Amino acid sequence: MEFSSRRRKFATSHQKQLYGLPLQFYGQPPLENISLTEFETFAVERLKLLKTVENLGVSYVKLSEQYIKKLDFEFRNLNFPYRVEADDRKTQSGPSEYEKRRKDHISHFILRLAYCQTEDLRRWFIQQEVDLLRYRFNELHPKLKLEFLHKNNLKYDAIPIEEKRALQDKLVNSSYGVSGITVEDQEFYKLTARSLPAVQSDERLQPLLNHLSHSYLGQDYSIQKNVGKISLEQIDSLSGKSFPLCMRQLHQSLRENHHLRHGGRMQYGLFLKGIGLSLEQALQFWRSEFIRGKVDADKFDKAYAYSIRHMFGKEGKRTDYTPYSCMKVIMSNPPSQGDHHGCPFRHSDPELLKQKLQFYKVSPSGVSQILDLVKGMHYQLACQKYFELTHNVEDANFSLNHPNQYFVESQKILGGGKDVKREMMDTPQRSQVKSAFKNSSGSREKVVANTNPSQDLAKMTEDLDSYFQDA
Ligand code: SF4
Repeated sequence: MEFSSRRRKFATSHQKQLYGLPLQFYGQPPLENISLTEFETFAVERLKLLKTVENLGVSYVKLSEQYIKKLDFEFRNLNFPYRVEADDRKTQSGPSEYEKRRKDHISHFILRLAYCQTEDLRRWFIQQEVDLLRYRFNELHPKLKLEFLHKNNLKYDAIPIEEKRALQDKLVNSSYGVSGITVEDQEFYKLTARSLPAVQSDERLQPLLNHLSHSYLGQDYSIQKNVGKISLEQIDSLSGKSFPLCMRQLHQSLRENHHLRHGGRMQYGLFLKGIGLSLEQALQFWRSEFIRGKVDADKFDKAYAYSIRHMFGKEGKRTDYTPYSCMKVIMSNPPSQGDHHGCPFRHSDPELLKQKLQFYKVSPSGVSQILDLVKGMHYQLACQKYFELTHNVEDANFSLNHPNQYFVESQKILGGGKDVKREMMDTPQRSQVKSAFKNSSGSREKVVANTNPSQDLAKMTEDLDSYFQDA
């Protein structure tokens, strides 16, 4: 009895200290144990929130009436601390203010770990979190703003001058707002990447965090409900109308060179599988194109057919491989000379991208809007703009996360492939994040067991990559 009452007392004061205000600077990482189920839910929901912040940030003036209205809605929808509900009672339906603040705290740190691994990821995460904090600070009552500032007297861990000098290039490259001044004049603060070595040694978490930072929130396009709904003859015309730029360029180079290197075959092959090509169609498609180039039929059957069957889960471990999401295309395996895979908004030289867009008849003002988004590193939004311009719609009304999603949305607008559309729409919503946490539960034994699917996934993707190496 005594033990439990002590625990209750501790929890109350600890909660009060951590979650006394609706907003925090996340100075203290969460120390409690949480189940993988909670880990998953919190991470996915914060990622959704940050994606909304990104979308709104380029669609509206930040902190404008519309921006605030839409962000307010998302906050309430996802049950993050919304304005001020200072007491700890449950709202009519849904979690209490304490539970929301706890989720805000824990989810921030989960994504911090997932997004501190590369410079690109860090920039994206920081940008969205800064916008989020600005919005939330702005929404605070003046009294609470003052309390917040007093409580957080902005005492970060500043990087000493010698360290700043040693890191000068990296600091300048990673800082948009410091042009015109030297790193000596500017304060820099240590970030979470320094905690990464400790996390990397945790075999349960690292695969999940890697997966999370390359994840998207959306449909699972590995489920082939629409097999055989597309004929090979349709592909040329579909590539011009409904393929995102990454796939359009892969298709074009395949047709021109009768060959694609392994990165391109992986990216494009899985996409085609996702839009509905059957294994037989895929074999026929790749074979007919390759034998028009330097590969004869015998070599194709020996060196390439196996890898295509493997992609469809008919060889090796019989895994049903998932088409790549935008984040995977953007963040991993950048193309080198002679490659055509990757995301043109991320990997093409801006001048080359401009020419491509002009070639595809995007208007001059459209080209400049897209290039502005690219410059701000909003690659998926640039692609979404390309979608709007090429489909002649003002608002795409979806948040682009996946090349196959682009295809489905395009088909909806163009009214073609009604069967394809309906069946794709029926595919259950499942995020790649979720698949990484599949069967998660709170127990340690289960936690350890649950790391295997994502480790296997990474391993299997590597295996598949190796099958696609040029013979
Ligand atoms: Fe392809 Fe996604 Fe890049 Fe668009 S944003 S070109 S769909 S990878």
